[in-house]
Parts: sequence; C-alpha cells; structure tokens
Amino acid sequence: MSFNIAIDGPAGAGKSTIARIAAQRLSFIYVDTGAMYRTIALALLRSGTDVEDETALKAQLEQISVKIGYENGEQQVYLNGENVSSLIRTEEVSDMTSRSSAKAQVRAKLTDLQREVAKKENVLMDGRDIGTVILPDAQLKIYLTASVQARAQRRYRELLEKGEAVTLEETVKDIEARDYRDMHRDVAPLRQAPDAVLVDSSDMTVEEVVERITGLARERMEETGIWK
Ligand code: C5P
Repeated sequence: MSFNIAIDGPAGAGKSTIARIAAQRLSFIYVDTGAMYRTIALALLRSGTDVEDETALKAQLEQISVKIGYENGEQQVYLNGENVSSLIRTEEVSDMTSRSSAKAQVRAKLTDLQREVAKKENVLMDGRDIGTVILPDAQLKIYLTASVQARAQRRYRELLEKGEAVTLEETVKDIEARDYRDMHRDVAPLRQAPDAVLVDSSDMTVEEVVERITGLARERMEETGIWK
C-alpha cells in the first residue's frame, strides 16, 4: 500500500516550494496538481474557449490530453504531448486557472489521473482539494496557510524577480480574488479537512515548515509500520 500526504492551502502559502523539498527528503514523488489545472487553462486560452459556455468547454476538453512525467526528479506537464511546463506560470494563466478550475467538467478530467498516481506511489500531492476530495484517506493531511500580507509579499518578490511590472497592492488584490474564488466555488472549494494539521507559515522559514511536515510524516509512517 502506498503512503499519501495531502497538502492543501491558498495561493502563495509556499506549498510547491515546501512540498518539493519535503518530498525529496522523504523519497516521495511530488505531484503538483496546480500545474495540471494550469495546463488545461493554457489550452483554453490558446483555443479562446469561453469557460462559461458549457458546450464549448466540453468540446474543447475532449480535445485535450494532460499527462505528467518526471525529468531529473522535476514534474513536467504535457498538453497533447507537448511539454508546456515553462509556459504555465504567467499571470494570465493563473487567472484563467482559477476561473476554469471552478468548473466541474475541468475537475472531473483530472480526478482519475491524480488518484491513479497516488494509488501506485508514495506521493506528496499539493493542491486545493487533495485532503477533502481526491485523497480522503491520505495518511497525513496538511493545511498550509499564511496571512494574506505574508503571501502577497512573497508573491510580489517572485514577480519582481521575474521582471514583471506589478505593485504590492495589485498582488494583494490578486491573492484576495484567487482566495475568494477558490474558497467559494460550488465544486471542491478550498477548505481545511477536519483531520488536517494546520500549519501557518506566516512567521516560519521554508526550512522550519519542511521540518514540521517531514517530522509529522515520519511519525505517521512509524505508526503505520512503513518507516523503520
Ligand atoms: O497551486 P497553483 O497556484 O499552481 O494553482 C493554480 C490554481 O489552480 C489555483 O488558484 C486553483 O484555482 C486551481 N487548483 C485547484 N485545485 C487543485 C490545484 C489547483 O482548483 N488541486
């Protein structure tokens, strides 16, 4: 049986950085589900699909295949066979992702793919609904969050480094809008699973958060006899 760790939380809480390092230390496979939703969003942007038009969305989704693979331990996402990993981190794609991921048809397309990897491998999977919907039986669930200010500051620094012209104020608004959409959608809204451990990273370093998560994982693995 595989051991599954689910990490959910809002945008900018540091999930992907932390999940990547923690997975490496535990020798688990890191599955970034946000990248899968971003891949679908890229396809919708490229085809100019109106996500509010259910028929058009259905037709477009039928044309799309999303797969994941690993190169040097890094997850790659493939859209109809094309590696689009370097094209999915723009603000335009982020915005489309948070709108399209609210659609049941879009979520349904990725559910099986996510469950299949988790069944076969020890995974650390991050997203918004992993502990609540995708892997309700995960042996460890973490809800990783941080204050809006702390998340916006981090995101703002990242965007400046990438050379994008944004203000801190715009970044705060953007994070608040994404939080609102992720938490208030009808299908699989972002929320803490009742059995998830809450980790607030506002005043913690990356190393402290990684230590906390790997520590919890080792405890749970010992309890279940997987870690000796
Ligand atoms: O984690 P990341 O910021 O890459 O996710 C981008 C967007 O994808 C989120 O804002 C959310 O709308 C959506 N998402 C989701 N369910 C997941 C992962 C991501 O709805 N499991």
